[in-house]
Amino acid sequence: MNIDIIPCLNDNYSYLIHDEQSNTVVIVDPSEFAPCDKIISKKYKKLNYILNTHHHHDHVGGNAELKKKYNAQIFGFESDDKRIPGIDKLLKDNQEFKVGKLNFITIFIPGHTIGHVAYYLKKEQVVFSGDTLFSMGCGRVFEGTYEQMLNSLKKLKNLPENTKVYCGHEYTHDNLKFCLKFNPNNNALKKKREIIEAKIKHGKPTLPSTIGDEIQMNIFLRYDDPDVKEALNLKKASDLEIFTKLRDLKDNF
Ligand code: ZN
Ligand code: FE
Repeated sequence: MNIDIIPCLNDNYSYLIHDEQSNTVVIVDPSEFAPCDKIISKKYKKLNYILNTHHHHDHVGGNAELKKKYNAQIFGFESDDKRIPGIDKLLKDNQEFKVGKLNFITIFIPGHTIGHVAYYLKKEQVVFSGDTLFSMGCGRVFEGTYEQMLNSLKKLKNLPENTKVYCGHEYTHDNLKFCLKFNPNNNALKKKREIIEAKIKHGKPTLPSTIGDEIQMNIFLRYDDPDVKEALNLKKASDLEIFTKLRDLKDNF
């Protein structure tokens, strides 16, 4: 399997997956037609499937034109059947589906929107997390509740640590600054900062991350870290209280 990272719009990423065994081509969250089509037409001249993590325009903007040009099938969560343009196949939570030789699992992770899913490749150890889990951050809670978002993040946190995380946006550097501010004694973060800044300087994506790195450094998965609780002055607060406080602070960061 090969994954190409396609930068789109200001800071979005679309992901182009090629299963060499079956010559199947899949795109996750095509933000816009032109940059996606450019690489598809050059490398593969075909597109079999479009997988959408959620209905926001910066994740489905290329759906209609790509479907028209390549006759691709569009997959998304069942409750977003009216919101994902051109949707063909409605997926349920925990649904396994085969695309070429790849076995995907849908993980329902509401919060950012109420129809948000992740796409998980267990054997290949890859997850596409959309706007729920970012590298060093998480998405804004637009439609769901804080509790839903926290539970969704906990689901992703439970994946094997080697799992590579491909998320919807290049927000890593700003996220890292926020993590450092409220988790100042996390030494792993300081080392990570140099790596991230070097990648950005060379115009490279900071992704993929891994679940293990996110557990170690992403403050939104560290609601039980005493250093975070201390920085927030909320030493006795619950996971949900800490998460809510962090999300509110990040909204205004
Ligand atoms: Zn979104
Ligand atoms: Fe987005």
